[in-house]
Amino acid sequence: MSDSKYGFATRAIHDGQQPDPLTGAVNVPIYLTSTYQQEAIGKNKGHEYARLTNPTRDALEESLCSLEGGTSAHCFGSGMAAITALCTMMKAGDHVVCSDNVYGGTSRLFDKVLVHYGLTFTYVDTSNAENVRAAIRPETKLVHIETPTNPMMSVTDIRAVAEICHAKGVELSVDNTFLSPYLQRPIELGADIVMHSTTKFLNGHSDGLGGVLVCTKPEQAERFRFVQKCTGGILSPFDSYLLLRGVKTLAVRMKQHDTNGRAVAEFLVEKLGADKVFYPGLATHPQHELAKRQQRGFGSMLSLELGSLEKANAFASRLKLCYLAESLGGVETLICHPATMTHAAVGAEGRAKLGITDGLMRISVGIEEVEDIIADLTQALA
Ligand SMILES: *Cc1c(COP(=O)(O)O)cnc(C)c1O
Repeated sequence: MSDSKYGFATRAIHDGQQPDPLTGAVNVPIYLTSTYQQEAIGKNKGHEYARLTNPTRDALEESLCSLEGGTSAHCFGSGMAAITALCTMMKAGDHVVCSDNVYGGTSRLFDKVLVHYGLTFTYVDTSNAENVRAAIRPETKLVHIETPTNPMMSVTDIRAVAEICHAKGVELSVDNTFLSPYLQRPIELGADIVMHSTTKFLNGHSDGLGGVLVCTKPEQAERFRFVQKCTGGILSPFDSYLLLRGVKTLAVRMKQHDTNGRAVAEFLVEKLGADKVFYPGLATHPQHELAKRQQRGFGSMLSLELGSLEKANAFASRLKLCYLAESLGGVETLICHPATMTHAAVGAEGRAKLGITDGLMRISVGIEEVEDIIADLTQALA
C-alpha cells in the first residue's frame, strides 16, 4: 500500500485521495450508504455492508497507512475505540506493559474495564528502556508506549524498546498522537503497530473524533478488519471525510505547530525558568538528544508548572485568545489543567507519582500568529 515514491507532503494530499473515477471530483465523496446493491447472489463490487467497508473510510485508511509507512490501517470511532480494538488481540491471562505516563483514558480503560476480562497491566517509566525489559513476563503479549508522554513530555527510545520486545517475542504498539507521522514514524524505528487518536493533529481542526491502528503484518490486518466487522466501532463516512480533508494540510500544519511550539517554550523558559517548562525541544530536557534523533521536530505540546492550583486558576481565567479546554492538536491554542481534566481519573496519589501537580498546565500550541499567542500568555501570567 505504501510504496509511493512521493514525499510526505505529496502523499498527505494524494495517497488514497485520487479523483473520483465516476465524475472526476478531486475530493473523495462521502458515501452515505449502509448497504450496496449486489449484481447477483454472491456477486458484488467489493462492498457488502458499511460496517465492513465504506469507500470514504477505505480512502482514509489508505492515506493514513501511507503516512505511517505501514501495510494496512484500520479506523475506529475514537482513539479509545482503536485502543479497545488493539486489546482484542489478547485473551484472558495475557499481560501488557505500558508507559506510566500514558493518556488518562488509556489507563482508565485498562484498569477499570479490561482487568475484568482477565488482562493484567504493569506501568513502568519507559523513558528507561531497561524498565521495559524487567517488566516483561512469559505471559506478556504487548508493550504499549506513548512518546512523548502526556502531560510530562517524557520521551521513550522506540528503537531500544522495539529491540527488547522483539528479543522476547512481544509486540510493540506506539501511541503517536502527540507528534503525528510528520514528526515521528514509529514503524521505521521498529514498532509493530502505531495507534492514533486522529481527533488531535491528524484531524487538526477540533471537529471530529476518530482513531486508527496502523499495522505492519498481514495477520494484524486480518485481525483488525475482523474486529471492525465484529465489534462495529468504526469511523463514520462523514468523519472519514473530515479527516481526509484535515490530513491534506498535515505537513504545513505540523511545520507551523513545531515552529510555534519552540517559540512558546523559549518564551516560557525566559518567563518562568527552564525547570518549570516541560518540552523535549529544550536542551535541559532529560531526553533532548533522543528526541532530536528519533523525531523530525519537537511539536507543539508542552507543560508548565505554575506552583499552585490558585495560580493555575488565575492564569486560566485571564486567557483571552487561548481556550481553556481538553483535547489538543487543533489549529487553535488549547490549554488544559491535567489534574482536574485529563488526569482526574488517575487520582491524587497516581498524579503525585507522575509529577502532575495542581499547578501544572498543558498547552497545545496552535498555529495562530505566535506573537499573539505569546502576548496572551504574557498577560495571563502577569
Ligand atoms: C485523546 C487521546 C487518546 C484518546 O482518543 P479519543 O479520540 O479521545 O478517544 C489517546 N491517546 C492520546 C495520546 C490522546 O491524546
